[in-house]
Amino acid sequence: MLDGLPLVDGHCHSILATAPDREAFALAATEATVAPPGGLSLLDGPAGLAIRRWCAPVLDLPAGAPMEEYLARRTELGHAEATARLMAAAGLSHLLVDTGLDGPELAPPSEVGRAAGAEVREVVRLERVAERLAEQGVSAAGFAAAYADALAAATVDAVAVKSILAYRAGFGGVEGVRPSPTAVRTAAGRWLARMAKARGGNGNAVPAPPARLDDPVLLRFVLWCGVDRRLPVQVHTGLGDRDLLLAAADPALLQPFLAAAEGSGVPIVLLHCYPYHRQAGWLAQVFPQVHVDVGLTVGQVGARAGEVLAEFCELTPFAKLLFSTDGYGLPELYLVGAAQFRHSFGRLLEAWVADGAMPAEDGRRVAALVGAGNARRLYRL
Ligand SMILES: [Zn+2]
Repeated sequence: MLDGLPLVDGHCHSILATAPDREAFALAATEATVAPPGGLSLLDGPAGLAIRRWCAPVLDLPAGAPMEEYLARRTELGHAEATARLMAAAGLSHLLVDTGLDGPELAPPSEVGRAAGAEVREVVRLERVAERLAEQGVSAAGFAAAYADALAAATVDAVAVKSILAYRAGFGGVEGVRPSPTAVRTAAGRWLARMAKARGGNGNAVPAPPARLDDPVLLRFVLWCGVDRRLPVQVHTGLGDRDLLLAAADPALLQPFLAAAEGSGVPIVLLHCYPYHRQAGWLAQVFPQVHVDVGLTVGQVGARAGEVLAEFCELTPFAKLLFSTDGYGLPELYLVGAAQFRHSFGRLLEAWVADGAMPAEDGRRVAALVGAGNARRLYRL
């Protein structure tokens, strides 16, 4: 159902500028940030199997070739050639790149687009805009207005904004009202003073660490500023690396916010969602502006993607379900995300057609919607 359909990657990041070593490859392929002890391999699991299955043939090896052989072949081809082959094989027409991760270890997004033969569009991370303000210097009283201006300037060409509230405070305390101007001013005073202290006082011998927006009031403030900007708001939910508190990343905890933001009509896109994808599906059904994105989850669960995608589809209306890879660091993750999605979502739709649950023409229509059409409509591509 999805073979040959160019996919719109609605959420991804940039790739590493240089080839990772074996351990860095294993960490980049999973959500782990620490390798297990005693030489146990992170890659001997669903994510590693998916890389061996979908990526090995693109590097001229049989599908399922052992990881050692795969990594040796990758080194033999060189980082640039391996990247070009893997990205091109993903069959992506657009990459919507979250530019909030912008360290020197990453290639510029335009390079990722060139390798993929895809158009690159920007998604602006709401927290990063506030952090840049703190790094440049802003007063507590002027913070709210300066943030609104900075966000407007940063999003002139953007197709969406993104919140990583799940990583910074979690959804537990999220209320249905936006913070008052007084609360924002007080919180800004507290946060800016803390950042100035953390970043100063080293006599400029070492560069100041980047600012980190972790104040719960300001995190909610920037989320509402994202809504005010009237671009789709992507929200990280569910799994990620262990920097987040998984229990506080359940999108169902966002219900008061989703209800309060409903009147704006601004689309909210719940990213990743797993293992709360069933909650996300319910939210997409009952809130008119809520959408659900399957990125990261499909690649990480590998061969189980069919079952997990079926669970995504239990309640989510088809026009609100979106494909993405959440590719980050390794070109393998873009190809695995795309190939596993084509395979597993295609098989799911074919099974429904075979069962009489869905006419074949609806299967083709839904495949095109979830793979590309919904994102083209939502992000105005
Ligand atoms: Zn991501």
